[in-house]
Amino acid sequence: MRDFDLVIIGAGPAGLTSALYGSRAGLSVAVLEHQMPGGQANLTFDIDNLPSNDAISGFALSKKMRERAESFGAKIIEDKAISIDAGSLIVSGESGTYQAKAIILATGAEHRKLGMPSEERFAGRGISYCAACDGAFFKGKKVLVIGGGNSAFGAAVYLSKISNDVAIVSRRDRFRADRCLVKSAKDAGVKLVPDLVPFEFRGGKSLASAVFKDRLTGETKELPAEGVFIYVGISPNVELAKAAGIELDDSGYIRVDCDQATSKEGIFAAGDVCGGIKQIVAAWGTGATAAIRAFEFITSGRH
Ligand SMILES: Cc1cc2nc3c(=O)[nH]c(=O)nc-3n(C[C@H](O)[C@H](O)[C@H](O)COP(=O)(O)OP(=O)(O)OC[C@H]3O[C@@H](n4cnc5c(N)ncnc54)[C@H](O)[C@@H]3O)c2cc1C
Repeated sequence: MRDFDLVIIGAGPAGLTSALYGSRAGLSVAVLEHQMPGGQANLTFDIDNLPSNDAISGFALSKKMRERAESFGAKIIEDKAISIDAGSLIVSGESGTYQAKAIILATGAEHRKLGMPSEERFAGRGISYCAACDGAFFKGKKVLVIGGGNSAFGAAVYLSKISNDVAIVSRRDRFRADRCLVKSAKDAGVKLVPDLVPFEFRGGKSLASAVFKDRLTGETKELPAEGVFIYVGISPNVELAKAAGIELDDSGYIRVDCDQATSKEGIFAAGDVCGGIKQIVAAWGTGATAAIRAFEFITSGRH
C-alpha cells in the first residue's frame, strides 16, 4: 500500500489542475491514469479557446499540463482505479493500492459515437463531437449536426452563427429538444431533417459527405457536408463513484456542491464527470476548487 495525502483519479485537465494545486500547496499527490495524461484534450488538433494561449494542439497542451503538475512534485502513476473504499479512503488499482487522506474523482466523460468505421476515419478531419471547440474551423461551410436532443440543437444554433448552411439530422420523426431551442434553431435558419439514419461518411483526406438511410423508405441519401457534429449523447465515467455509493444527479453525473464535495466525506469530484459546461477552462476551474477544498479538509484534521 502506498500512502499519499491526495489521490486523484484521472489525469485530464481537471485531474492535472487538481494535482498542480495540491502539490503546490505541499500535499503529496498521486494521479492515477490508465490512458494518456491529458484525457479528452488529446483528441483535438487545435484548441483556440484558452485565454492563456494562442491555438495549441491538444497533445502539446496535455504535455504542458502534465509537466506543470510534475514540476511541483505530483506523481502520475499509470494505473486504472478499480474501486474506492469511501470509509477508509483507500483506492484500489489494477497495479497497486493507495491510502489517501482525500480523493478527487476526475474521471471525465466520453462522447458517444455512432460506431461506424468511417466515423473514426474522419474524426478530426470533418467529424467533431464539440461545436464550441471546433465550430470555428467550419466558417461558411456546409455543416450537419446529427442528433435530436437539446445539445444537438444548442450546437446547431451555435454553428448557425458561423455557417449559414446548417442542418440537424435525426433518426426519429420528432426532435426531442426543448421547444424554445427548436424555435431558436428554426429562427436561425437551421434546416430540420427527420427520419434519416446515419450509414456512412465519405471523402478523401477530409470529409465531403454523409450518407443516410431513410427510416421510412429504406432509400439511401447522400448529403454533402464538410463538417459533421455528432451529438448522440455523452457518458460520464461514473462506474467507480457509483460502486463506492457516491450520489449521482438525475442526469447520471456525480452530484457535487459548490466546493466540489461529493456525498461522501473526503471525496471530491471535478471536471466533465460532474456535468455542466464541458470545456477545458471549466475543468481547470473545478479541478482547482476541488484541490483547495481537499487541502482544507486534510489540514483541518477532519480526515
Ligand atoms: C474531440 C474533442 C475536442 C474538444 N475540444 C475542446 C476545445 O477545443 N476546447 C475546450 O475547452 N474543450 C474541448 N473539449 C472538451 C474538453 O476536452 C473536456 O471538457 C475536458 O477534457 C474535460 O476534462 P476532464 O479532466 O474532466 O476529463 P477528461 O479529459 O475526460 O479526462 C479524464 C481522464 O480520466 C481517466 N480515467 C477515467 N477513468 C479512470 C480510472 N478508472 N482510472 C484511471 N484513470 C481514469 C481517463 O483516461 C482520462 O484521461 C473537446 C472534447 C473532445 C472530445
